[in-house]
Amino acid sequence: MSTNYTFAPSATVSVPVVGASSQFPVHRIYCVGRNYEEHAKEMGHSGREAPFFFMKPADSVFYAAPGATASMPYPSLTANLHHEIELVVAIGTGGRYIAAADAHKHIYGYAVGLDMTRRDLQNDMKKAGRPWCIGKGFDHSAPLGAITPAAHVPDIDHAAIALSVNGGMRQISSIAQLIWNVAETIEQLSAAWELQPGDLIFTGTPAGVGAVVAGDVMQGDITGLAGIRVAVVAA
Ligand code: MN
Repeated sequence: MSTNYTFAPSATVSVPVVGASSQFPVHRIYCVGRNYEEHAKEMGHSGREAPFFFMKPADSVFYAAPGATASMPYPSLTANLHHEIELVVAIGTGGRYIAAADAHKHIYGYAVGLDMTRRDLQNDMKKAGRPWCIGKGFDHSAPLGAITPAAHVPDIDHAAIALSVNGGMRQISSIAQLIWNVAETIEQLSAAWELQPGDLIFTGTPAGVGAVVAGDVMQGDITGLAGIRVAVVAA
């Protein structure tokens, strides 16, 4: 017998998979803070701390289809919306206490993502010792490209990662520069939460974060993955 809900439940958030007809259903979105040394330094930290995590709601995913320009509304309450280009790991098989050596068995694929940040609100919360949710977990805060199955990505650990705004390069680095690599991140994260199929992990951003305004167009690329193109539009 089907459940009689008080009202229709929200639809499952999902994103397309490159080369497949099925959609990847999103469960949770975990994010790693300060995972590239040069970015940690630009944010005023040493670059040598243990990884820490925050989350975004699953429905903050804002899908950006390959070859198209997705229009992201400029969010409310901020005057300092920042881009953070990130490698996103899509979990296909869940687990707890996953050893780094076994992490690859749990990865379904990879995507290009943007951890969009209301930096002014995040900074206010940091100063007050309050949660980052309002700075990080707002609607449309997780632009995301199509997911490429891991089997089709030869060497993600050495892929180039780049973000340009209006054609000018803002962030450029290599996944090899991660302080905690993908496998180590899965090991640490799965000790804190039981990972589930459908979980996404935003693995952190390289140096060069900065503001965008309405009218700007961001282009994000990682070698071997579907790139994303996102225009910021006035709400
Ligand atoms: Mn980030």
